[in-house]
Amino acid sequence: MNVHKRIAIYGKGGIGKSSTASNVAAACADEGYKVMIIGCDPKSDSSITLLGGKRIPTILDLLRDGVDVKEEDVVFKGYKGVQCVEVGGPEPGIGCAGRGIIVAIQTLKKISRSLNEMDLIIYDVPGDIVCGGFVAPIRKGLVKEAYVLTSGEYMPLYAANNICRGLAKINTPLSGIICNSRSVSREEEIVTKFAAEIGSELMAFIPKEQIVQDCERDGFSVMEKAPDSNVAQVYRKLARTIMERDSSVMPEALDDDRLRELTK
Ligand code: SF4
Repeated sequence: MNVHKRIAIYGKGGIGKSSTASNVAAACADEGYKVMIIGCDPKSDSSITLLGGKRIPTILDLLRDGVDVKEEDVVFKGYKGVQCVEVGGPEPGIGCAGRGIIVAIQTLKKISRSLNEMDLIIYDVPGDIVCGGFVAPIRKGLVKEAYVLTSGEYMPLYAANNICRGLAKINTPLSGIICNSRSVSREEEIVTKFAAEIGSELMAFIPKEQIVQDCERDGFSVMEKAPDSNVAQVYRKLARTIMERDSSVMPEALDDDRLRELTK
């Protein structure tokens, strides 16, 4: 296999980026790909379901404590060999303006060769475009493909639309929209329309199923704990689509009136 995918999943906080990222990572590992997940979320829970519920130390915390960080301190093998890294969060009240991610990745590059060896690296990045954190991995050339996760409700769509505006501003194309359903009425129709109107397409509709939360609570991905479930099939299909994807578009964000109309 000779793939070199570097993707980021964006979307409103709490919309399910981490569970989508970890399930896609697990599904790709199932297919034999070498996968790394880099959690850049302050909650550092991107990798927890790949590690049987174990929380790993974050690069930023170790650096802050003055530790001379080694690869084995921050890169942990999870489900089917998925390499898990948590960048960690900022100091409360200080933030990091995206520096955190960059410093952490620079450290990682220095201490580990795996970054170059992976078929797929998934960056699970902080929610909205409030700061440099959003663009840092793209600007540094770490991320080549951006995906946006949303549901059919107004607020997540608002955030998704804003992210698309941000991507266009930094000249970064969008590879697709993923819907993590909240069981809103006409949800698939709304998100399909949204995706089409910004010039992109809906890549997957992940149904809201209790099994996802149940597996998460136990510290596992659906792929590991409930591989025969309906939602596992959906993640598997999404993972394949991502691995085969080679098209993207410059998204054209909607104006707010149109966005409201869409969700009515
Ligand atoms: S400054 Fe941005 S990237 Fe840094 S922690 Fe705050 S929100 Fe995240």
